[in-house]
Amino acid sequence: MYRFYINSTINDKHYGDMLRVFFSEEEFEVLTLDYPKGTTLPLGPDSFFVNSDKSEDRNDIKTELYHLGRSITGFTPEWGILTGVRPLKLAYEIRESCRTHDEFMSLMKNRFLLSDAKLNLICEIMDYQDRFIDEPDGKSALYVHIPFCPTKCTYCSFASEELCSASEADRYLDSLIKEIDYCAKLTVNRAVTFESAYIGGGTPSVLSTSQLELLLDRLTEAFAIDPASIEFTIEAGRPDTITSNKLRCLSKRGISRISINPQSMHDRTLEHIGRAHTAAQIEDTFRLAKEYDFNCINADLIAGLYDETPEDFNYSLQRLVELGAENITVHTLSVKRGSKLRESDPDFYRRDTGRVDKMLKDAHDYLLSKGYHPYYIYRQKHQMGALENVGYCLEGKHSLYNVRIMEEKQTIFALGAGGIGKVYDPVSNSLSRIPNVGNYRVYIDRIDEMLERKNKYFI
Ligand code: SF4
Repeated sequence: MYRFYINSTINDKHYGDMLRVFFSEEEFEVLTLDYPKGTTLPLGPDSFFVNSDKSEDRNDIKTELYHLGRSITGFTPEWGILTGVRPLKLAYEIRESCRTHDEFMSLMKNRFLLSDAKLNLICEIMDYQDRFIDEPDGKSALYVHIPFCPTKCTYCSFASEELCSASEADRYLDSLIKEIDYCAKLTVNRAVTFESAYIGGGTPSVLSTSQLELLLDRLTEAFAIDPASIEFTIEAGRPDTITSNKLRCLSKRGISRISINPQSMHDRTLEHIGRAHTAAQIEDTFRLAKEYDFNCINADLIAGLYDETPEDFNYSLQRLVELGAENITVHTLSVKRGSKLRESDPDFYRRDTGRVDKMLKDAHDYLLSKGYHPYYIYRQKHQMGALENVGYCLEGKHSLYNVRIMEEKQTIFALGAGGIGKVYDPVSNSLSRIPNVGNYRVYIDRIDEMLERKNKYFI
């Protein structure tokens, strides 16, 4: 066990986050001490006294931890001392404070220790956003969560359960519709306008066609939304839940974006991660979806699944490009608490991370060569190699909803179990969260309390 004694009165969670890039939870401990500047302490070989200069700047302390972690493990994190999920938000803040592009580049590289590859990626994303994405202009987003999936993926830590019966989904929809109606009434006469709507999960397409029709009609009617006039996405994540009838139902209602999320185009991997469908089914579903006039089909892949090699990953990516996905999100496997994989193999995400790094770099080069642009980015805890997730799109086929979440400058009305609403205050430039409970049974039982919480959007 390594012990890091940090000479600071503030026990900042970022210090643990920095060390987690190098060590597992069991391998290190952070303790804070308060000694005068210049103190040195005689400590054993696995203990380190950090910040003897008593700097008040968190980044100085993270830099010292970074160098210690690097010299102990030999691992050089691509993202330097950047921890937390929103590297782009920080990059925009830094750019705002710099007079020249060179100053920005030098700060990102020398202060935050980013690798050239990641700095280049950040610049490419900023360039896309500068050219194609405006400010939200006071418009809001609407999110609806469907907490059911056909089976549970081994790496999943989301608010989702295997759907055991259609009547259970009916029971959930009853409560969800109460929340839709209640929240919609609150927005009447309050000048709320929507830029985007997103039905996510879970796997919303696990609902039957008639359940989807009911949900979509009620949602659009209650909030007076014309799906064809805003960005409207529904995750049709698993091919085994998608039928012509469901696609027709979405297309008829003007839904512009759907998401088909294979994660891999290899049967052995799909079986490993607990999917009940094959790669051939994914291909068939894509071809079927292409018969309808969706503006954009997104597809997610995960780098780092089981024993996949960079060549395996590249094959999956190529197939999605050939199948015509306009938007491809390249995720790095994250093994979070609450997932089956974390329980069975807690250190999976720490092993063999070099292959994932190669997958991401190859994916970036390949997608650029095919005309895609990286347009949004985020990071999660416990990702292999402390790497990232990047959304790529053909020009103009980005998801505004995804971009806004990372910007943190938009109010999101979030409905359903696991929905986390956010209210943006432009004066303080801050967000406050209005979460619903995650478990759908508790959500149904406590629906009146969930309705009550909606009033907080307007306090
Ligand atoms: S499809 Fe997504 S939400 Fe459903 S079990 Fe898999 S990872 Fe979880």
